[in-house]
Amino acid sequence: MGRRSSAGKVTSLPKGARLYPMSGIATGPTSAGEAQRFGNDGPSAGDGAGRPTGAERGDGAARVPHVIVIGGGFGGLRAAKRLGSQPVHVTVYDRVNYHLFQPLLYQVALASLGASDVSVPIRSVLSKYENIEVVLGEVVDIDVAARRIRLRDGAEDEYDYLIVAAGAKTNYFGHDAWKETAPGLKDLDDAYEIRRRVLLAFEAAERAATPEERERLLTFVVIGGGATGVELAGAIADLSGDILDREFRHLKPGMTRVVLVEMADRILLPFEPKLSESAVEQLRSLGVEVRTGVRVTALDDQGVWFGDELLPAATVLWGAGVAPSPLARALGVPLDRAGRVIVLPDCSIPGHPEVFVIGDMAAFVPEGETKPLPGVSPVAIQQGQFVAETILRDLRGEPRYRFEYVDKGIMATIGRARAVAQLRKLSLSGFLAWLTWAIVHLWYLVGFRNRIIVFLNWIWAYIMSKHGARVIVGPSTFRPNELRAVTEARRAAESRPPAALREELPRSASP
Ligand SMILES: Cc1cc2nc3c(=O)[nH]c(=O)nc-3n(C[C@H](O)[C@H](O)[C@H](O)COP(=O)(O)OP(=O)(O)OC[C@H]3O[C@@H](n4cnc5c(N)ncnc54)[C@H](O)[C@@H]3O)c2cc1C
Repeated sequence: MGRRSSAGKVTSLPKGARLYPMSGIATGPTSAGEAQRFGNDGPSAGDGAGRPTGAERGDGAARVPHVIVIGGGFGGLRAAKRLGSQPVHVTVYDRVNYHLFQPLLYQVALASLGASDVSVPIRSVLSKYENIEVVLGEVVDIDVAARRIRLRDGAEDEYDYLIVAAGAKTNYFGHDAWKETAPGLKDLDDAYEIRRRVLLAFEAAERAATPEERERLLTFVVIGGGATGVELAGAIADLSGDILDREFRHLKPGMTRVVLVEMADRILLPFEPKLSESAVEQLRSLGVEVRTGVRVTALDDQGVWFGDELLPAATVLWGAGVAPSPLARALGVPLDRAGRVIVLPDCSIPGHPEVFVIGDMAAFVPEGETKPLPGVSPVAIQQGQFVAETILRDLRGEPRYRFEYVDKGIMATIGRARAVAQLRKLSLSGFLAWLTWAIVHLWYLVGFRNRIIVFLNWIWAYIMSKHGARVIVGPSTFRPNELRAVTEARRAAESRPPAALREELPRSASP
């Protein structure tokens, strides 16, 4: 990465970075002079929402280029921080007021951590930079010809440079109706919904009228054997092991069935096969069943269908993939099959060197390779840093460089103290991999308070096997018809004579 001198100037560029020829891209701010001119030529009548436009921002005397960043996630936040205290005015738009550390989201879903442990207000992260403004608002359209963005509330804003870093959303691969039955894990709402369903399944199972019903309520199916699916499955197994025995009177950990389903012939495809095998073993040691090479054909109230085969399950979770933000289409440039914006070597889009797309929204194919970079946070962070440096280089009249990704490896955690890690030439599994995972995640977690809280939480959970965040947020009904059925079965059973009740409901009698 470029190092900063005491004056805050970039003194060197990424190791191995190479000049990116700008010939063929004639328009846009490629030099300080041109960039300055964009600011001077910008509109000065405000944006219709009462906010000043790019040309008017700054100290009023010296006009500075206006950089809009869409998204305060991994890529956007890093870009904004790099542009902090630089000769630009930056506006960060996000539809939520917080930066979310998604790698630990599954721990919120499975009640190990609270929402504020994995998120931090974007305003507070950027508050020390006087040249940065943060706006809570969802961007719904981008007019690249007019260099303008539009928010859902109709307000508009104009830019000299645009960094689009709006991330991704859960992808149901054409089965959008499955969303109701199988929530995905992408934001805090999803995490709370998963937590609600899992904890309510335990509650409903405690009151189940028949063993069959209890079995169905205690069966959790996770669809998708990528890192998210593996993490969810391991964490459900951990949670049930920790609380069922101790806190429920009619349930035992062995009654829980967690099934991880993957269409490919192995889980964790980006990892080398021996680590996939190790992950399967580690999951099995937690009691998780792993089914590979199976295709889900339908989901309904009964459970998961594989053709004619039904796997009865009350709780189904979706960890099968993500699709880029729909904002990608607004740019009007070619997208790849997954819907990501195909970007140039400097992360800009064809014909618009002033527009950059980074992170999960971008399809960046490294030179000499055929596959785009994966949707992981280091890619977004490094691209965020790179495009900010590129803008600063433009402003100094220096040439642009190609983005070069430094791949430090991939990791996936499995329950409380297991993981697999592929770090360049080093492959780790088990506790050592988990320790590496834990240190890396604490390091990258934004906010000092969050690091301390999460660290203490992990120690507490490790020693005491406690899940401190078991608060159900949202309606306390499992699913409307589900709870009705449980209640009706219970009432029918209770209306019978005590002897029959004892026989039919051995586990639901009062202690
Ligand atoms: C459950 C889960 C676990 C993961 N685990 C890992 C892991 O262990 N390691 C790893 O490297 N990667 C992991 N990832 C992937 C990683 O989180 C992403 O690759 C990374 O977040 C991408 O960064 P980004 O900046 O492109 O998008 P994000 O970080 O997703 O940020 C996008 C931001 O844009 C905002 N936004 C979206 N649309 C709009 C709009 N229209 N207007 C305004 N704002 C908008 C969002 O609110 C969000 O703040 C995980 C992802 C998930 C979902």
